[in-house]
Amino acid sequence: MLGLMQDWPLLMHTVLDHAAIQHPKREVVTRSVEGPFHRTDYATVRGRALKVAQRLVKDGIRPGDRVATLAWNTWRHLEAWYGIAGAGAVYHTVNPRLFQDQITWIMNHAGSRILMLDLTFVPLVQSVADRLPHVERFIILTDAAHMPETSLRNAVAYEDWIAEVDGDFAWMKVDEQSAAGICYTSGTTGDPKGVVYSHRSNVIHALACNQADAFGLGAADRVMPVVPMFHANGWSLALCGPMAGATLVMPGAKLDGASVHEVIEREKVTFSAAVPTVWMMLLQHMESTGSRIDSMKRVAIGGSACPPAITRAYQEKYGVQVLHAWGMTELSPVGTLCSLKPEVASLSGDAMLALQAKQGTPPYTVEMKITDDDGNELPWDGKTFGRLKVKGPAISRRYFRREEEEILDPQGFFDTGDVVTIDENGYMEVTDRSKDVIKSGGEWISSIALENAAVGYPGVAEAAVVAMKDAKWDERPLLILVMKPGVLSPSLEQMREFLADKVAKWWLPDDLVVLDEIPHTATGKILKMKLREMFRDHRPA
Ligand code: ADP
Repeated sequence: MLGLMQDWPLLMHTVLDHAAIQHPKREVVTRSVEGPFHRTDYATVRGRALKVAQRLVKDGIRPGDRVATLAWNTWRHLEAWYGIAGAGAVYHTVNPRLFQDQITWIMNHAGSRILMLDLTFVPLVQSVADRLPHVERFIILTDAAHMPETSLRNAVAYEDWIAEVDGDFAWMKVDEQSAAGICYTSGTTGDPKGVVYSHRSNVIHALACNQADAFGLGAADRVMPVVPMFHANGWSLALCGPMAGATLVMPGAKLDGASVHEVIEREKVTFSAAVPTVWMMLLQHMESTGSRIDSMKRVAIGGSACPPAITRAYQEKYGVQVLHAWGMTELSPVGTLCSLKPEVASLSGDAMLALQAKQGTPPYTVEMKITDDDGNELPWDGKTFGRLKVKGPAISRRYFRREEEEILDPQGFFDTGDVVTIDENGYMEVTDRSKDVIKSGGEWISSIALENAAVGYPGVAEAAVVAMKDAKWDERPLLILVMKPGVLSPSLEQMREFLADKVAKWWLPDDLVVLDEIPHTATGKILKMKLREMFRDHRPA
C-alpha cells in the first residue's frame, strides 16, 4: 500500500520560490567586487535567476550540461547558482585559489560549457583560456560600465547578457535525483574528485542544517556566509538562508579580519560560518583595535579543528556562541555539529571547552560508525580511535567520471579518511586525517590535540604538528609555530612544560621550529603535506 501524499519533488528552485513568496522583501546585501555595497531582495533575486535560466537555454544549455562559476559570494553569484540549476544544468563552483593547472584540469574534467567569472579573475582566466576548449563563452559578473577589455571568447557582461531576455520563463522540469551541482575535492591526494550533488540531496541537506541544533536559522537572522560558495558546496548556506527567510549578507572578495569586521558591524550580522583561519584573523583584528561584534550571536567554525583558545575568546570575551562543525565536500558538506545535548549542557569552564573541541554529533540524515582497518566496528567510549564511516541521503556514493570505482563499504558506508573517537554521548572527535596521524612506537599521536593545546600558549598565532622520522620510534612529533607580530617565541622546554598537563607525556613534541608563515591550502587549511615534505628528515638540535 502506498501513502497518499502528493508527489512534490525536492528541487532547489522551490527553496528560492518559497523565499520570494514568503519573504519577498528580505534583503540580500553584498559588498560588491566593484566596491560599493549593493542591496536587493529575494523576490528580485528570483526574478533575475529566472532570467539566467532563460538566457542559458537561449545559449543552448541543455539539462545536464555543466556551467562553471569562478566567483566570490555575491548576489550575482547567488542568482547564477539558482539560475543554472533552474535551467536543469549543473553548477560547477570552481575554487579560484587552486593552482592554475588544477583549475584547468577540473574545468576540462567537468566539461563546463560556460564560465561565469568575477572581475577579479579575468587575468587568471585569460592566461588559461587557451587550455579550456569546452568553454564556449565567458560571462563576466559585472555591468557594462565595469566591463574590462578582454580577449576571452564571446565575453559579455552579465547584466547585458541577462537583459537580452524578459524573464517570462518557468524553471525547467527535472527529476529530483538529477544532478544540480559539482564541487571538486581539493586533491591533496592525487587528482581532484568530482562530487555530484542532486537537487534532492541539496534540499534534504539544507533541511537538516536548518534544525535548531544545527545552524538553526530563522527569518530574523542576518546570515553572513564567509565560507565561499566554491568551498564544499558553500556549507549549504545559499539554500539554508532562503529556506528560513533569513537576510543574507554576502562579503564579496575581501575576507581579511578588518573587512569581515566592517561588514558584520555595518549589517548587524547575527550568524556566520567560516574556517578557523578567518575567525583567528577577525580575533586578531578585534584585539588590536579594541573593536567588537555585538550583533553576532553564533558562529559556525569548521573545515579544520577549532582550537579551544578561539572558542574561549569568542564565548567569554565577545559573547558569541561557537558551533564547531565537521564536514567534507562528499557530505554536502555538514557531517556533525557540536551543539549541546542535555547530557552535556551542565558542563562548565575547561570541561565545556574540551567538549566543544569535539566536532559533535550528526543531524538526522547522517549515520556514522567507527571501524578498524579490517572494517570491524569499534566501541563509542571516547578513547578508541577508528576510521570514521558515514551513510546518508546527502553523502557521495560515486565520483564524477569514475563511476566504476566502489567507494562504499559492504554496508554502504563512505570512508571519510578521518581517524576519530566517538564518546558515550555520541560526540565525535577528529584525531587526525589518516595520513596526518603520527605513529610513534606503534601507537597513534593526535596532531590535532597537540595543535589545539599549543595555540593556547600566549602569543602563538598558529601551530602545526607533523611527523619527523625517528630511528627508535619510527615517527615523533615536531611542533611548528607562527607567533603573533612582535611576540618572542617560546623555547622547546617552555613549550613542553606548557603542554605537560594537557597531553600524554609521550606525545610531547621532540622539537620546535618557528616559521614566519605556515603554508595553507586553497581553502585556508594548514598544508600538512608541504610541511611533512619540508621537515620529514628534520633532526632535533
Ligand atoms: P579539502 O580539505 O580536501 O579541501 P574538504 O573541505 O572536503 O576538502 O575537507 C574535509 C576534511 O576536512 C575532513 O575529512 C577533515 O579531515 C577536515 N575537517 C573538516 N572539518 C573539520 C573539523 N571541524 N575538525 C577537524 N578536521 C576537519
